[in-house]
Amino acid sequence: MSVLVVGSVAYDGIETPFGQVDRILGGSATYISLTSSFFSDDVKLVGVVGSDFADEDIRLLESRNIDLDGLQVDESGKTFFWKGKYHFDLNTRDTLDTQLNVFEHFDPVIPDSWRNSKYIALGNIEPGLQSKVLEQVHRPELIVMDTMNFWIEKTLDQLKETISKIDMLVINDSEARELTGTHNLFKAAGEIKDLGPGHLVIKKGEHGALLFTGDEVFSAPAYPVIDIFDPTGAGDTFMGGLLGWLSYTDDLEPQNMRRAVIFGSVMASFCVEKFGPDRLKSVSEDDIYSRYKEFRDLSLIPDVQAG
Ligand code: AMP
Repeated sequence: MSVLVVGSVAYDGIETPFGQVDRILGGSATYISLTSSFFSDDVKLVGVVGSDFADEDIRLLESRNIDLDGLQVDESGKTFFWKGKYHFDLNTRDTLDTQLNVFEHFDPVIPDSWRNSKYIALGNIEPGLQSKVLEQVHRPELIVMDTMNFWIEKTLDQLKETISKIDMLVINDSEARELTGTHNLFKAAGEIKDLGPGHLVIKKGEHGALLFTGDEVFSAPAYPVIDIFDPTGAGDTFMGGLLGWLSYTDDLEPQNMRRAVIFGSVMASFCVEKFGPDRLKSVSEDDIYSRYKEFRDLSLIPDVQAG
């Protein structure tokens, strides 16, 4: 099934306790589409880049069969640039620089032939723009969306309106608490689902993720990654793995949602092993399925007899 991805395409500068890179391919749409392409052979990307966007990065996306007809090239400026520095715990980061460049006037236009896409990923962009995408698509199976603290603080009403139109929100624990003003994640989840989405994933960084689907709750384990070099893109990669699996199987039943959360976690666990999207370049299908099995074994609980 087709996957339509809308979000940022960027160059990132990254500092972690283990090293730094001045400029590496990044952006929410980049990570989501690269990752979904491991599961779907019909991934379409809508975004904008500037005159400095490198041919080798176009080639990388094309090498994964990602359709770039919706990638606007705005020759009047440079590609969105973001720079972040991670603290020693790797869970928190400071944004050191954000240069919107051509992203400032990004107007997501969905090509006519893409408007029937069945699975839609709304990467982290201004919630009004996310809504604008939804106005252009026809009856998708599943709309999955990400957001960030910045939009919760600046555009809460618009954000809630956009959330009311989607099927699944994927956010981290601090965002869930901030969005609802509720500390307890299970209560916060109920309040978010009351806004509209039938499915919700709350990511807990290195501690796994919670899935709320219908009346069911599923707690996904965290993978013990020994060498975390760079968490950049882990959230987007999670979403790409989750959506990629759902589009590949075209099955939204709770059991398959659980698998999707684990495939999201698998892909995120690869992403953090190298800087930027570098590790995603060399992941194989065998790597993905064998790590899925490791995840499964991590959380198998043996039965006990009462008494
Ligand atoms: P993640 O680590 O999954 O939260 O996503 C990291 C990516 O988000 C980086 O590659 C950045 O280029 C991108 N990013 C950072 N800030 C913004 C923003 N304000 N809007 C859109 N994308 C952003």
